[in-house]
Parts: sequence; structure tokens; C-alpha cells
Amino acid sequence: MTPLYLDCNATTPVDPVVVDAMMPWFREQFGNPHSVNHTFGTDAAAAVEDARRSIARLVGADAREIIFTSGATESNNLAIKGAARFERRMRGRRNRIITVASEHKCVLESVKALEAEGFATDVLPVGTDGTVETERLARALDDDVILVSVMAANNEIGTLQPLADIGAMTRACGALFHCDGAQAAGRIPLDVNTAAIDLMSLSGHKVYGPKGIGVLYVRRRPRARIEPLFSGGGQERTLRSGTVPAPLAIGFGKAADLAAPRQVEEATRLDTLARALINGLPGVSLNGPPLDSRLPGNLNLLIEGVDAGHLISRVPELAFSTGSACTSAVVEPSYVLRAIGLTPGQAASSIRLGIGRFTTSDDIAFANERLTHAINRCRREA
Ligand SMILES: *Cc1c(COP(=O)(O)O)cnc(C)c1O
Repeated sequence: MTPLYLDCNATTPVDPVVVDAMMPWFREQFGNPHSVNHTFGTDAAAAVEDARRSIARLVGADAREIIFTSGATESNNLAIKGAARFERRMRGRRNRIITVASEHKCVLESVKALEAEGFATDVLPVGTDGTVETERLARALDDDVILVSVMAANNEIGTLQPLADIGAMTRACGALFHCDGAQAAGRIPLDVNTAAIDLMSLSGHKVYGPKGIGVLYVRRRPRARIEPLFSGGGQERTLRSGTVPAPLAIGFGKAADLAAPRQVEEATRLDTLARALINGLPGVSLNGPPLDSRLPGNLNLLIEGVDAGHLISRVPELAFSTGSACTSAVVEPSYVLRAIGLTPGQAASSIRLGIGRFTTSDDIAFANERLTHAINRCRREA
């Protein structure tokens, strides 16, 4: 029996409509979108440009501001390292990068890599609900800051950051605002202009599109200047050399088209399902913000007195995550849960559930029943 998938913050299933949209571009229309001498190439190029427009529309951008990458990890690296290195090489006036303790590992590691290159860095703390304190950001911002990187929605605890405030403050000090929008895109309204975002990373596989494709939004006015990570043929406005994987880009475009019109309705549906999923679970509390101000579909639960790994092994019918990440074979408590003030023990008793487009209310009733049973059993065995 296939387990019920409840891990939509790790990845989402590819929507069958997206699969159908991609197939011809694998099978018959396999041209290199950068080949200009025949219709294999030009047809693929036209479809990639359609996809670029669809993705731009999802975040209020212009198609010319969308750069295809391999995913949000690459986009985050490109934005953060690219902005810092451009500033150093071309202007050399500013030297500092600001980010937040609960960001995705690829953001934190990119910032750390810049530290080794001699840039100064600030990693701001978060409050118990995971939001960055804007007063702390205000104090950290000055005319030495190159870039501020703050995510739209947290992948573990669903915190939504106050992007418009952060964007306004960042622009006022003349720094670039980079936003990791991988979790938020297609789930909550995102607009690069409202939030004064200069650079934004998105990922296909978090919005029911394929894995291995992402984009970096790069603002044109006022222009965000970054240096590429790769040397090569100069594709994607010289910012990302390499052949654009047309089928994946087209799939991401279709996924953006599907997500946009149903965003509001779907958020309400996911919220209802999330409430039903935790309803009556014994001795359980929510980590992160309350449900009404949280990324729709995300739950992170502290289950007192129960080891998360133990619980997971007791419900093989459900696929979800612990609050921990396995790094180099050692299970470490989640740094995000630690950042909002949980003890290592509490983090070890936490699970993440991610509800998505294909989760039904029957699924939720089943999951609630199985979890209740398993939690009670784990407590008896403890
Ligand atoms: C999944 C995720 C990433 C990484 O995206 P990939 O496309 O898998 O590289 C980065 N940031 C956040 C917030 C994510 O959820």
C-alpha cells in the first residue's frame, strides 16, 4: 500500500496536467531552445518564452526579469553571491550581507561562503513565531549593506515574513532585497512590486511542477546587478549559462498557470483541512505562528513525550517528516525550531505535516485517526 503523502513542504507531486504539458517536449519537440536554425529550436524557444511569461505573472514581474535556473538552491546562491561579488568587483563601496537565522540552509550557507570571501555578515534572530523583528533589521541596516535576504514563507514552520516592511526599509537604505519565495509562490499572493523585492528565488517542484527547474527574478527598474556563477554561452541574459531544459521550464510555466487562479480558494481549503487534521490530537501543540497567519497547508506539531522518529515508525501509512534534519548521518535538532526557542528535546518531539492540492478530507480523517492512535501508543510505550 502506498502511504498517504503529507510532506508537501518537502516537495509536491507533479500535477498530471503539468506532466501532459511536458511530454511532447521530451518526445517529439526535443529541440534545443537556443538553436535558431530550425523549428525544433524555435518552437522550443517560443514555448519557453510562454512559460517565462506565466511564471512572471505569478509574482507580478515582467518576463524579461525571469532567469531560469536548476532550482531555488541555485537561485539563492546566484542572488546572494552574485550581488555581493558584483558590488565588490564593480563598485567596492558596500561590504555587508544581512539574513535571518531561520532561512533555508542554502541561503545560510551562501552567506557563510561570502564570509570566507571577506564580506561582513549579520544573521538576525527570530521571535517565537519565526518572524524577524523589523526593529532589529532597522538597526542593522546602514550604507554598508549590499543585500538583505529574507524568505517569504518558512519551509518548516510556515512563518510568513512581513515582506512589504522589509522591502521598504531595505530600499530606503539603498540595499538589494532578496526573497526566497520557494514555499510561498502559488500558495499565497506574492508581488515583487508591492514588497519592493529586487531578487526572488522560486522552485518548480514546490508548486506541483517538476524538480530540477527554478527561476531567479531579477528586477530591471531600478536594476539589480549581479554576477553569474557559471562561465559559458551567456544564456539567460548572461546570468545563467547552460541550455535551458525546455520540458522542465514549460512544466513550471504550466504549474504557475494552474496555481494562480485557484490560490485564494485553495488556501481556504487547505486551512480547513489543517484544522481538521489536528482536531482532537492528544497533547499536541503548534510550533510557529497560529493557523490564521501561517502558510496554508503547513503544520509543525510538538507532541510532548513522544519521539518523532519513533512516531513515524509507528504510522507507516503516512508519509511526513520529523522536525530534524539528518546531516552527515547524525540526527540534529532542527535549527529552525531551535531558533524559535524550542529545546533540543522539544525539537526531537516535533513533526512537520504538509497538506497539498491532492489531499482530500477523507485523507485527513484517515490521518487524524492514525496519528491519534499512534501518539497514544507511543506514550504508552514510553
Ligand atoms: C525547497 C526549498 C528550497 C530549495 O529548492 P530546490 O529547488 O529544491 O533547490 C529553497 N528554499 C526553500 C524555502 C525551499 O522550501
